[in-house]
Amino acid sequence: MSVPFVSQPARPLPHLTRCSLWLGFGLLLAQLLWPAEPLAADKLRLQLRWLHQFQFAGYYMALEKGFYRQAGLEVEILPGGPQAAKPIAALLDGEVDFAIANSGLVIARMQGKPVVALAAIMQSSPVVWIVRADSGIYAPQDLAGKRVMLLDPPESAELRLTLLREGLDLDRLQVSPPSFDPLDLVDGHTDAYNGYTSNEPFWLQQQQIPYRLINPREYGVNFYNDVLATREAVLRDRPQQVEAFTQASLRGWQYALDNIEESVQLIHRRYAPEKSLEHLRFEAQELKKLIMPELVQLGHMNPGRWQTIANSYVELGMARGSGDLDGFLYLGPAQTDHRLLYQVLGGAALALLLLGSVALRFAHLTKRLRLEIGARRQAEQELRDSNLQLEKLASTDRLTGLWTRLRLEEVAHQEIKRATRYDLPLCLIFFDIDRFKTVNDQHGHETGDRVLSAVAQRIKAQLRESDCLCRWGGEEFIILMPHADLEHAAVMAEKLRILVAATPVTEQIGVTASFGVAQWRPGQSLRELMQCADQVLYLAKQRGRNRIECYAPPAPQASS
Ligand code: GH3
Ligand code: MG
Ligand code: MG
Repeated sequence: MSVPFVSQPARPLPHLTRCSLWLGFGLLLAQLLWPAEPLAADKLRLQLRWLHQFQFAGYYMALEKGFYRQAGLEVEILPGGPQAAKPIAALLDGEVDFAIANSGLVIARMQGKPVVALAAIMQSSPVVWIVRADSGIYAPQDLAGKRVMLLDPPESAELRLTLLREGLDLDRLQVSPPSFDPLDLVDGHTDAYNGYTSNEPFWLQQQQIPYRLINPREYGVNFYNDVLATREAVLRDRPQQVEAFTQASLRGWQYALDNIEESVQLIHRRYAPEKSLEHLRFEAQELKKLIMPELVQLGHMNPGRWQTIANSYVELGMARGSGDLDGFLYLGPAQTDHRLLYQVLGGAALALLLLGSVALRFAHLTKRLRLEIGARRQAEQELRDSNLQLEKLASTDRLTGLWTRLRLEEVAHQEIKRATRYDLPLCLIFFDIDRFKTVNDQHGHETGDRVLSAVAQRIKAQLRESDCLCRWGGEEFIILMPHADLEHAAVMAEKLRILVAATPVTEQIGVTASFGVAQWRPGQSLRELMQCADQVLYLAKQRGRNRIECYAPPAPQASS
């Protein structure tokens, strides 16, 4: 079995000639007579990134159920925590063979450190801000001026990137290091607590303290978490062990997710007696939502997504360089294990001597091979389907059903290329609902949500098929209009403005919106175009709201 690295193009299966099948059989025989490279007798050490809890269930279950042992491995699991070794450092120092890291692992790689990602367990990160329900904080913008906890940069990269994308400088917040005590939120010592969806919410629910989560995922930031890693030397010297360990660990994860109650009981009994069973069960359910086993093959990693994560770290100033990720992702045994190939050749020569006596067995093997090929093709198809679903999730805003900024950015880059190549006009409208905070304050957040959704639907109904409408975040939206010049886009913006103002959402609630319109100029990046539209949106707000403003490029300087 190879590692489920689905991003590899499906390799065409070799044409199985009679001869190569005999050779294949030879290999099998050789493997029987001369077992593969003996696995090291030493214990393999796995460094976790936090204290024992359900977050690492797959590894405990692989140990408990004998998956490691069956793979010829002896494994020791080392807990993390504030006092323990940092996983990536321990891995690089050679103290451990494997480690669980967050997506900051890629930073180490960009710094030239020889780390290799084997499998991403959580397809999405659990890192969030937790705020009290009565805090008046609904979105990242509301954190301005507030006391906000932030873990060290790589541990809170998702949160930092959200702030950056929302245009909030860190110095506009009162940042403090995390206290690891959610009581600080309850006692009012902080306004936003840097926590995990799988952890503190349990405690708050038990204490019956209403809270709200500010989740980076809703602002287009979607990182992997809990990545199983090794270092290049281990992979180079002991490729079979790495493959065996990865597979056994993923098997452990499958078992843990299929048998949550049994896993919870074991963790409580053996690893984390101080965590209640209910807490572990809560953690299991929350993490399962992030691991998404029904949607994604366990451990799945997408190179494109890793590249986006790497670029995000560069954007945050936490890493430098072009983010070349060559060799960072484990590609499975086919690409790494040349020794196996030599064994195949040696074994095949021997097997040729014994051909006659094994015809029956051969027929049986051929049949099994065919079945495996069929199963593998089906698995690949399922994987492609789940990838599509995953992409859809990331590109659709949950509240309004509109595109997310992630999707808009992708499309906008294409449109800019097209406009450049064919010399076509392209416009961007940035609009923002006026005094929306008052709607929340007067009618509650849920009504606020309904208003957002209603406005989005109304606008969408007016646009052409080729226009792209996205929820940029909070109560801000963007329309990208290919093939439209400024005049055309301004007419459209005015039409939309009148529509929003003229149709109240309910009897009591009507809203207006302000619009900034800008036309793309050759050579402009998406970011520059947006800055122009944002600038005039700001002007529309200053000039009284419920109006549109168009961006006029500065007149060229007259040369003397
Ligand atoms: P302005 O006219 O200057 O745009 O005023 P405003 O009140 O609309 O602007 P401000 O940026 O101060 O506040 C935006 C508000 O939108 C604050 C935030 O709580 C709210 N908000 C952001 N996202 C959501 C959401 O998903 N649902 C709800 N109900 N409110 C949201
Ligand atoms: Mg607003
Ligand atoms: Mg706004």
